[in-house]
Formats: sequence, C-alpha cells, structure tokens
Amino acid sequence: MGSDHHASTSPSNQTNQSTRTLFITTLLLVTCNAVSAAALRNPYIKARAHGPVKKKLDRPVVILVSSDGFRFGYQFKTPTPNIHRLINQGTEAETGLIPVFPTYTFPNHYSIVTGLYPASHGIINNRFVEPRTGDQFSPARHEPKWWLGEPLWETVANQGLKAAAYFWAGSEVRKGSWDCPKGYCMKYNSSVPFEERVDTVLSYFDLPSDEIPAFAALYFEDPDSHGHVVGPDDVAITKAVARIDSMIGRLIDGLEKRGVFEDVTVILLGDHGMVGTCEDKVIFLDDLAPWVEIPADWVHSYFPLLAIWPPAGHNLTEIVQRMNQGLDSGKVEKGKSLRVYLKEELPARLHYAASDRIPPIIGMVDEGFTVAQRRTEGARYCGGAHGYDNEYFSMRSIFIGHGPRFARGRKVPSFENVQIYNVITSILNIKGAPNNGSKSFPQSILLPAQ
Ligand SMILES: [Zn+2]
Repeated sequence: MGSDHHASTSPSNQTNQSTRTLFITTLLLVTCNAVSAAALRNPYIKARAHGPVKKKLDRPVVILVSSDGFRFGYQFKTPTPNIHRLINQGTEAETGLIPVFPTYTFPNHYSIVTGLYPASHGIINNRFVEPRTGDQFSPARHEPKWWLGEPLWETVANQGLKAAAYFWAGSEVRKGSWDCPKGYCMKYNSSVPFEERVDTVLSYFDLPSDEIPAFAALYFEDPDSHGHVVGPDDVAITKAVARIDSMIGRLIDGLEKRGVFEDVTVILLGDHGMVGTCEDKVIFLDDLAPWVEIPADWVHSYFPLLAIWPPAGHNLTEIVQRMNQGLDSGKVEKGKSLRVYLKEELPARLHYAASDRIPPIIGMVDEGFTVAQRRTEGARYCGGAHGYDNEYFSMRSIFIGHGPRFARGRKVPSFENVQIYNVITSILNIKGAPNNGSKSFPQSILLPAQ
C-alpha cells in the first residue's frame, strides 16, 4: 500500500505545480513582497522566510477539514496512514461523530460552523422554499437572509482576526465583519483539484504572522460524490478514502515543513455517513390513493426526508392520519417502513420543528428505504443515500482533533456536531455566539489551555 500511496501523490504534485491559479501566484507574490520589505528591517523575518527555522504562531490556529460523506468506519477500508497519524496522536470520537437531522450536506456543514440545529440556522434541507415569499433556496444562494446564526468565520472576523474558507457551505455569504475576502474565501468550483485547496491553506503559513488566519475551513466533496453512485461498499469508495488520506498527508507534510504542525490544531470530520439503497426498498405515494391522494406538487422532497406541504385549507392532521392508516394497513408494499408525522409531533431529539421553513408534514423512512411518487418501468437502480434519522449508525461520520489542546491517543464518546462550534471558539480563546452546543462540552474533550 505504501507504493500505491506514493504512486497516487507524485503525479498530482506535478499536476498541481502546473495548475496553480493566478490567485495563488498573486497571493505568494504579495507574500514575498511583504516578507522582503519586512526583512529589510528585520533579519529574523528573512531567516524565517527562507530557511527551515521553526516559527511559533502568535495565537492558536484551527484548520477544520471536512470530507463529505466520510462514513464512520471508512478509515478502516484501506490503509489510511495519515488519518491514523492524527488518530494516534490526537483525540477521536471513538464511535464517530453524530450528524444533525436531516443528515444532509448543507444542514450539517452549517451546523458544524454555527453550533445550531437546522431549525435555528435556517438551512433545513439542501433545497427548500421560504413559505412567505415562495422564494427557493438552493446551495448556490448566498444572500444573508437564508443563512441565520453566526458561522465561525464571522465570529473570528468580528473579533478582528483573519479567517479563511476554502469551499464550506455558507462561507460565501457576507455577514457581520465577514465579507468573503479575496484570497481567504473561495467561490465554489468543484473542479479545483484537492491538492490546490490544501496548498492554498498551507500558503497562509508563509504570510506574516498577523495575516495568518486563526481559523481556516477546508472542504472535499469525496467520498460522498462516489457514495451516491455506487453505495458505501464499492471499490470506488475505497479509492476515494485513500485519496482523502493522501490529502491529509499533504496537509501534515506542508505544516511540518513550515515547523507548525504541532502548534496548529487540525480537526478532521465529515458531515454525515452513507447507506446503500436499492429499488427493492421503495414506498410509492400513489399506493396510498385509497386512503388519501398526495399529489406530486405537494411533495418538497421524497427521500430520505419525505417533506409534504399541502396548499392552505387542507386538514393536515387528517392527511397524516390517513397516510399512516394506509401505511399500517398491510396493503401498501413496504408501508411499515415509512411513518408520517406533523412536524410538531416528530421525536424531540430530532430538533426539527421550530422553523416555518420546515414543511408541516414529515415522513421518516427506515434505513436504506426510499420514497417515490409512482412505479415506473426501467432498470433497477442501486446506489447510496444519506438524510435518514441521525440515530442510524450508518449516518455517523468521523471526528479527529490533533493539536496542542487535544490529548494524544485519547478516545471520547460520540457527540453531535453542534458541539464543535464551542470547541473551536475555546481553542481560539474567543467569545462565541449563543448556540445549541453545551458550554461545558469543550472541557470534556480538550486539555486545559496552557
Ligand atoms: Zn451526499
């Protein structure tokens, strides 16, 4: 496996050399100019800029890395020496990180950086409708009205520190002192090579110390993008996991070369897991017609979160009762694997009611099941999905913290990702905004500040 690892990183090093964007070149030029000017006055800066002299950071720095859809357990699919270095020398959620419900990408990424449940931060699904205006949210919408709460980059910027985000849900939204600054905040483009993302974050550590971001978020789309197509147990996932591991290796190497690896906090996590789905586990809404008709234009999303918004004037309680009667009747195929609720009656542990953006009727399917409007002819499709109840183990992701405040080789119990905001503000020693995380949680996983 060692040779595989090298085989996969060496060519990408070369590719990266030739594909650096003008932006990075500009950033580095600006850096060099700044260093040169300062070096005229201070020979120590010259030494720092040109030699491997170990430099201590002026303040704590956190790099938050997300690997989308990195299901807990993927770290054992293939040798992952770099991820395991972080695990062995850091603190790990022993049985994984618990996502918020619904276990989708945008709600979870935004919960991680705000410490809020989706009902509070407003991103209640990857796509949804604002009921008062009929305006439709999609991941490309960057107006502040959609994104409630205070994300970490805003908290950091509000306190006069630099923050950076390389593709994180909500990072392009201008809020408070955060104006998505050039060079520190990238406009989303999935074709940017992972190497370039890592190298950009590393280049911040070549900047004068007051320009180094105290907080940098870094996002990789994999292994989620493969997981949807092939499910969690395909060789493509194994390869995607190995590639993420090599990116973590690239990050560690770059920090070590700059003499800051032991001083910088690296948190590696994912937003949710992944479970296999196949068309032998489908519930068809049209099968409920003898009890109640659910027209397609009432359905805002089918699965794993079934979200139904009937037009005004319909009796919501009656619709829910009739749907559940049909599902429980034994006459609807796979009906017992779907349960429908008024959102206020969902289990409280899901925290999925207190927002008028959440449709009034929510259906929860069993793990791996899907919902469709009607039977169609066609090839049987199998793949992967997430969005299910966050109680399912398959929806869990990973949490690993490495740095001065994380004990080496420590295992901690699983926790929900809304706790992470307070952990990061504790490490940075800055005041956080109110959120759904517990104030005492950081003490339970962090070492005391030096
Ligand atoms: Zn996904």
